[in-house]
Amino acid sequence: MSDHYVKVKVHLEQMKPFGEDAEKEGADTEEQLLASSPPASISPDPSSITTAEKDASNTSITCKHRGKSRGKQGKDDKNSCGKHMSDLSLHGSVVSAPAGENLNRLGHERTLHIKGTGKILQGKTETNGNYVTIHASKNIQETRREDGFKLARKRRPVTVDTSKAKTSLEALKLSIKQLKWKEFPLGRRTACDIYWHGVSFHDNENIVSGQVNKFPGMIEMLRKINLSRAVRTMQELFPEEYNFYPRSWILPEEYQQFSTQIRMVKENDITVNPTFIVKPDGGSQGDGIYLIRDPSDLKLMTGSQAKQAVVQEYIQKPLLIDKLKFDIRLYVLIKSLEPLEIYIAKEGLTRFCTEPYQEPSQKNLSHVFMHLTNYSLNVHSGNFVHSDSQSTGSKRTLSSVLYRLAAKGVDIKKVWSDIIALVIKTVIAVGPELKVYYQADIPPGKPGPTCFQILGFDILLMKNLKPVLLEVNSNPSMRIEHEQEVAPGVFEYVPSPVDAEVKVGVIRDTLRLMDPGHKKPSMSQPKAGGFEHREEIPMEAETQERSPDEGALPSLCLKQVYPKYTKQFNYLRLVERIAALFIRFLGVKGNMRLGPTAFRTFIRTCKLSNSNFTMASVDILYIDITRRWSGTMPDSREAGMGLQAFVEAFFFLAARRFKTLVLREQVVSLLELCEAQLESQSGVEDRRSVSCSRALPRAVKTQTLGLTNPQLGSPAPLRRAASQDYRLHQRVRPRTLRANVEN
Ligand code: ADP
Repeated sequence: MSDHYVKVKVHLEQMKPFGEDAEKEGADTEEQLLASSPPASISPDPSSITTAEKDASNTSITCKHRGKSRGKQGKDDKNSCGKHMSDLSLHGSVVSAPAGENLNRLGHERTLHIKGTGKILQGKTETNGNYVTIHASKNIQETRREDGFKLARKRRPVTVDTSKAKTSLEALKLSIKQLKWKEFPLGRRTACDIYWHGVSFHDNENIVSGQVNKFPGMIEMLRKINLSRAVRTMQELFPEEYNFYPRSWILPEEYQQFSTQIRMVKENDITVNPTFIVKPDGGSQGDGIYLIRDPSDLKLMTGSQAKQAVVQEYIQKPLLIDKLKFDIRLYVLIKSLEPLEIYIAKEGLTRFCTEPYQEPSQKNLSHVFMHLTNYSLNVHSGNFVHSDSQSTGSKRTLSSVLYRLAAKGVDIKKVWSDIIALVIKTVIAVGPELKVYYQADIPPGKPGPTCFQILGFDILLMKNLKPVLLEVNSNPSMRIEHEQEVAPGVFEYVPSPVDAEVKVGVIRDTLRLMDPGHKKPSMSQPKAGGFEHREEIPMEAETQERSPDEGALPSLCLKQVYPKYTKQFNYLRLVERIAALFIRFLGVKGNMRLGPTAFRTFIRTCKLSNSNFTMASVDILYIDITRRWSGTMPDSREAGMGLQAFVEAFFFLAARRFKTLVLREQVVSLLELCEAQLESQSGVEDRRSVSCSRALPRAVKTQTLGLTNPQLGSPAPLRRAASQDYRLHQRVRPRTLRANVEN
């Protein structure tokens, strides 16, 4: 049988430092970037990104002013940087809100808009059950304000349990205050609408309704090893689409491959001297990270235990500003897993190193202030610059950096659309396993909350402007204070305007999007064709979320990117379809692993065995793969075949059956075969379910009864649409192949 890892071949020329080809012509500093044009890549719609703010200096002056007057932040948000931020957004999707007055206007217009008629009621409105009475006597502004107040008064404030919020508490409190919602700092005997957890889904185990700001399994999924594995699976299927993640090896299991491959590269070309960064699996904030140039420098053991870590190709030529390396912290909201809904914050942070960058050499490998951008490390450097301005200092807003690059002639539309693509592809890579965790913790039919989560994406821009994913944090720090050395060796937390500006906006607008009063039922339930091509995503999506009582708030700083860009990315969701099969055969509620009998049932039901591939071979396949994977996952909850092992088995079965095709086509063909078999049998199962519904696989049962967990279902029309997406895409494209601390 083919070894999963043997497939991760070394292409000698690929072992050139990441992105070297494009970098060769690259410049050393941003000053030299003027003429550079980034390589073409799949992007949602670069032309749809506007950079309306041409005059960067104007913007930064406004923001500087705002940065200094923290007390007036809410007001200033609306009048200055609210505009500044929306200008960075994708065209047409954001309510451009240069002034508070306009925001009010838009907010109230919505309440008076008669759906489907295009009419705007002019005059006083009164709601009376389902009817609207119009009085034409008062002026429109006055009437709208009254109307807004009435609705606001009528609506019960949204309740938020903040008792587990930990270090995000301060930003959360400010957000709740701005929204005029009700906070329960000590929890509440009766249910709250929203539960804000500081660490994980399990911070509070007794939630049976409402919404929790964490998904089960997110911490585990985003640990460095698991993220690398999930991305690697996608790299096997879609190597070009997933080339934004540096080549990585998992330690200790891939130590041999790593050292052999590096030796071969060096032997082949003695001028090549790549550098690698070693990251402990559960690490965060730069802890335990070090650079090496030779496999023999790896620290493989902690005492008698082998260290779990990822060793990764080091990006040698990052984009520099002021001669310093920096990375981007981007906030991403997963609003729902099924249907998949992703939002990106239009404003993020950039974290700067505090020692001028030099390409790695044996001498400077240990200079953490030169190579690692972590705030938690650099804040302890004497060179760290705290600044109230958003465009100077060691921590700046993303927009200030992008405007600076734009002023130098960089095509920031392209950079931004590449970043959006990176985010969507990464979520598509981790989504399947998250669904497995989800169904285990919140089984369909059992009362439980729904989930959403803010993630922190750490992205590095290479000198050629290509974004590279460094890691994804399940608990991005939401602190709005920073550590400052007030006296030699004495550190204190002092307010950080840059953090407050970005983080309060992200939390507040996440809450606005999750407001139970505004939930659009069509968005939270998977309807048939949920994966269908959306010719057009309603552009008013963001304004729809605004209620009359939100009139005084700035426009949303979170921008929907999925399903907005379904068309461009849906074809990538192959592993998700494999996961749907996996979940379907899991059987017992709360399970995350497939037993041997369930695996046999899968093979039988999908008619995958024959005289050349007997049930005995099926058993051997199961034992072989499961044994190998159980060795790689020491902390696994239970015995059996996990999703990643099942995906490997699926790839093997696909390759066996459709020998002449390339891997992704093999996988699509096998998926279609399995899905067709299951569909043809679902009619029979429907009939049987009347008499023996308990014996049916859960997914079949819930679909039959119309109870599919909104975050999990994958009805047949959706799967068909996804297959069509893949085929369409193939036609238009050439064929080529837990950290529990915040960080
Ligand atoms: P942690 O969770 O400990 O912060 P990261 O993966 O974010 O770990 O790495 C820490 C820092 O190291 C990053 O912020 C970045 O500056 C640098 N870094 C990480 N991976 C790479 C890489 N492949 N190439 C260059 N720099 C990297």
